[in-house]
Formats: sequence, C-alpha cells, structure tokens
Amino acid sequence: MSRFFSEKFRGLVPYTPGEQPRGRAFVKLNTNESPFPPSEKAMAAAAEAAGRLELYPDPACTSLRAALAETYGVTPDAVICTNGSDEVLNFAFMAFCDERHPVVFPDITYGFYEVFAALHRLPFRKIPLAEDFSIDPADYFGAGATIVLANPNAPTGLLLSAAAIEEIVASNPGHVVVIDEAYIDFGGESVVPLTKKYKNLLVTGTFSKSRSMAGARLGFGIGDPALIADLDILRCSTNPYNLNAMTMAAGLGVLADEDYTRRNCRRIIENRAYTAEAMKKLGFVLTDSAANFLFASHPAAGGGELCAALREKGILVRHFDSPRIAAYNRITIGSRGDCDALLCALAAILGRPVPTDNLSPKGTTP
Ligand code: PMP
Repeated sequence: MSRFFSEKFRGLVPYTPGEQPRGRAFVKLNTNESPFPPSEKAMAAAAEAAGRLELYPDPACTSLRAALAETYGVTPDAVICTNGSDEVLNFAFMAFCDERHPVVFPDITYGFYEVFAALHRLPFRKIPLAEDFSIDPADYFGAGATIVLANPNAPTGLLLSAAAIEEIVASNPGHVVVIDEAYIDFGGESVVPLTKKYKNLLVTGTFSKSRSMAGARLGFGIGDPALIADLDILRCSTNPYNLNAMTMAAGLGVLADEDYTRRNCRRIIENRAYTAEAMKKLGFVLTDSAANFLFASHPAAGGGELCAALREKGILVRHFDSPRIAAYNRITIGSRGDCDALLCALAAILGRPVPTDNLSPKGTTP
C-alpha cells in the first residue's frame, strides 16, 4: 500500500474471486461458470461487433435493454445493463443504502455484499441463517433496512418461494429489497413479474451462468423505472460506456437463442440430480440446491482438506474459510464428464467404490 492511498479505503478487504488457473488443465468446478460454450449466435454477433471497435458503444444500451425487456415482459425503462451483475449490485448499494437506510443480508451469502457495504461505509447487519441454512422470511418482515437476498442463496443453493419474497417486499414499503437472481434459471421462480406491482423491488440477473457468458461481463437490473433511473445516474457518473460493443452484441445474440439456454439449464439440472445422488451414496450431506452448484460436507473429511485433495487430483472446487461453513465445499455442476471426474476423485479420496455404474464414456461431455 502506498502512503498516498486514501485513509478511507485503508481497511478495505477486497472480494476474493475463485481461482482462474493458467497453465495446468483443471476440471474447473470452483466459480459456477457454465461448462457449455456461448451460443453460436452470441459468438457471431460479438465477432461482427469487433469490426466496429473504432466507435464508442451505445451508452444507453438501447437494443439490449429492449431485448431484455421483451424477454422478461417489462418495459425498456425498467431495465439497466451493467458490466456483470456485480456492477448493478454495487450501484444498488450506493443508491439505496445510507445512514437512514442501513443494509441487511444473511450471515452466509454472496461475499461481495459485505465488501460493497464496507466500500461505501454503510451501516450493515447480518441476519443469521437457520441451523439448516434456510432463510426465515419472517426475519426480514418490516426490517427497517435495505434488504439484499440472493435467491437461490449462495453458497447454500437454497431457494425462497416467490410468495415468501413477495411478503418480504410488501412488508418493507419504505425500503428497497434487492433480489439477486444470479442462479434463478436452474430451478427457481423469478420475481421479475413482481417489479410491476412493487416500487421497492429490484431484481438483478446475470449472463454469466445460464447464458455461458461469464467472460463477457454482462449483468442487468429490473425494477420500477424510478429505481432504474436512480441506478442510471450512478452508472453515468461512473462510466456511461460500462458495456463494450462486443458484449452488447453477444447479449443480443444469446437472447435470440433462448432454446439453447433452456436446453443447457436442463442439462445442468439433470447433472445436478445425478451428482447429488451419487455423492449421497458416498456419505456426503448436501443442501437441496436449486442452483448450478452443490453445497456439500462429509462426516469423515474436513472441507478444506477435501478441497485440497481434489485440487491434487486436478479438480477445483470452492472452499470458504467462514467458520459456520468450514466443513462444506461449493461444487459447480459441470458437464456429465466433469461430474464423473469429480465422483471418481471423491471415491478415490474417501477410499470408497465409485458411486455410479453409469460413468460417461471417456472424452464425452454431454
Ligand atoms: N450474485 C451472486 C450470488 C454470485 O454468486 C455472483 C457470481 N460470483 C454474482 C452475483 C456476480 O456475477 P456476475 O458479476 O458475473 O454477473
């Protein structure tokens, strides 16, 4: 740290992203990316946009907002597009939290929420999850604070019903409720339709998971147009060209290929059920994940040790140091081949037989 670094940021502990290995080829199940390539339509559109990079991109992101509005059944002024959903979440913390509007989120959730709260020096409170890691909606009724919930939650994968979220939103009319739907396409019901009914609901989403575009950095927020206008003030005061032209084009491409996205989600859901069942046979304890990852612990192996042992075998998963979940690992659901590689490695580490007689043929990645 230099002596010039502003006093106000000296204590800031940045978010630690999962490892992106270079060199050695790992089976990468640590950052919840999609195992499937981007849509052909996304790739073709991005390549075409690359030929016009001498121009600035459209700062209003007009076409992509219109396409998202159409996809989600809202109007374009209810949509903001951002550089990953991390960016819209950052803007939401800036826009809707202050001394009068402290922010609350679960004690176990996406780690960036606490970083944003610290970055903007916001008063915040963490509400403990229940023993089984579930969220009790009643904990958030009339919270007197801005509420941020990931649904499904990460890294637990547990889902709240749309009805439970509606109760939370309805009981907090004086505060914004942010629902982070990064993983909603893997089995949950989106609350985007409720944004037309409640002026205090902001839903965030990402193209990083179900739409196979983590590398493009594309996220979005959907809410009442007045909320979106607030966020847009911050966007345009930070970087009006927050999305590059290739990403915008790729986003339009994949939205024109929703069948591809839906098919990939179905494959992930199938692979999740297959992997969870086999892991249970190995003795793992798992939450009922509605996301593209499993959250698992084993009575005979520590979370950290298992993560390290898998790494030795060329498989990356994510272990979090937080005491309440130290026994667990978050394991991204990959292709069927990835899942089989994981199961074989786990069986070898635990000294147990491979828990499936249905291994995919080597080299295939259905
Ligand atoms: N929310 C949650 C719950 C996440 O796990 C992630 C991914 N790390 C994000 C938001 C941000 O994703 P992105 O910025 O790639 O859209």
